[in-house]
Amino acid sequence: MSTINKKIRGNQVGYEPEFEKTLIIKDPTSLRYQLKKDEQLIEQGILSKFSIHPLTREKDFICDLTHVKEEGVYQLILEGMEGYFPFVVKKNCYEELLIKSLRFFYLQRCGESIPVECADEFQHRSCHDQPARIYGTNQRISVNGGWHDAGDYGRYIVAAAVTVADLLLAFEETQKISAINLRIPESKLQIPDLLSEVRYELEWMLSMQNQTNGQVYHKVTCASFCGFIMPEEEQEELVVTEPSITATATFAATTAMAVVFYEPFDETFSQRLKQASKASYDALKDMHMPEGFKNPEGVVTGEYGDGKDIDEKYWAAVALYKAFGESQYREDFETLAKKEVLHGYGWEEVGSFGNQAYLTTEKFPVDENLREEIQKQMIKKADELEEKIAIEPYGVSFSENDYIWGSNMYAAENGNHLFDAYRITKNVKYLNYARSQLHYLLGKNPCGYCYITGFGFLSPKYPHHRPSSAVKKAMEGMLVGGPDRGLNDPAAVEFLKDQAAPCCYVDDEGSYSTNEVTIYWNSALVYLLSVLI
Ligand SMILES: [Zn+2]
Repeated sequence: MSTINKKIRGNQVGYEPEFEKTLIIKDPTSLRYQLKKDEQLIEQGILSKFSIHPLTREKDFICDLTHVKEEGVYQLILEGMEGYFPFVVKKNCYEELLIKSLRFFYLQRCGESIPVECADEFQHRSCHDQPARIYGTNQRISVNGGWHDAGDYGRYIVAAAVTVADLLLAFEETQKISAINLRIPESKLQIPDLLSEVRYELEWMLSMQNQTNGQVYHKVTCASFCGFIMPEEEQEELVVTEPSITATATFAATTAMAVVFYEPFDETFSQRLKQASKASYDALKDMHMPEGFKNPEGVVTGEYGDGKDIDEKYWAAVALYKAFGESQYREDFETLAKKEVLHGYGWEEVGSFGNQAYLTTEKFPVDENLREEIQKQMIKKADELEEKIAIEPYGVSFSENDYIWGSNMYAAENGNHLFDAYRITKNVKYLNYARSQLHYLLGKNPCGYCYITGFGFLSPKYPHHRPSSAVKKAMEGMLVGGPDRGLNDPAAVEFLKDQAAPCCYVDDEGSYSTNEVTIYWNSALVYLLSVLI
């Protein structure tokens, strides 16, 4: 018996011993199951809780193995069905996943050569290191460094800012991260590897600030996307586009947040962050862009347009208050938060980063009533997700309209919203819901995919990621976008027509709307892992 039974859907990476372990069996022919280990029968039983999936219409039964706490690789077998599911129970189950998903950032580095001893087959020469022209002028500036954003080689501030925020929060969350050796050139330094890696991005972000007025350029890319080539082969002119409010505000927030992390290691660097943060915050008052950033004529790379910039200003104000304590920042944040508590851990909606900063401000006074109100709204947000989870057999916090571009990031993000509610209330149901979002990403989903390259028995092999295509091997540890019912690219239209929303995913290199990767999807995964391990 060597085949996998793909109608059994569970976390393909495995389960920590104390985790809930409920697997879904799709359309079983019998309700009897057996659990074996080394060919020995461990237990047998009957599936429970039948339901019809509201979107796929499949019949879903639950196999609850929560009581199995002894470490091991088991085989779950269904009577009358061929094959088995490799059911893994293991302590520190997600360590390798965490390391690989963090190493991804190093392998995305731009502007320096990536040597073979650090990158194996993903080595490459220095790329995108010529001065970039500021759009509409003949002025050139040096904006070397940072991470390639996604499957393409652009670099975008709003995406970078939330990625850095996720990674710093993850670093703060667990000591385990600070001990990880990422096999990067800085690994021998007396500073945790993750902080070295994040600094690589921060240095680039600092180079994107206009030194005269403090505003921050929105992005630097070539005018259009290149083919499936390695980064150093993209030789077209680099163009820096105009500053935006969302870029300037998220830059202010992230650089403020970073100060405290680098203070113990490099006082000069943390001072640079502080000055840059304050200058960008001050620049905001003279910026007016009611429509948000728009690609200028002739530039067709990622836009990251966002007409609603109030949440970015909300986050910036409180991040600066938490870091520097000046009353103006407090007043700016509290005025906004008293009108409406905002949410979001994504590139577009960032309110939750602000909420978390306010709840963890310790050095300076806060309004206790507002703090309570923010907590109340965070619990409400989790309760809205709970309503969706309650009617979704796989335990993901999605209804039909949530299967959009980058849906996997929202699964990870929702995991963090649910964990926020657990942190506030200590009610274990929220913790279990947060874990369910991770199980969804790692294989307990209607597609039966573990959505991280290189993990599980069925994972993406053809991600929309230029280095992976050029090397002809999927870089490991990347979270792909996941199901998108909008069918937003030709491959999705070709392969996914008539699919139910949760199954609108295709492992095809052309499907940028379901199978691309980005730095802020990976960082969302890292942040979720950090709170759950
Ligand atoms: Zn590059």
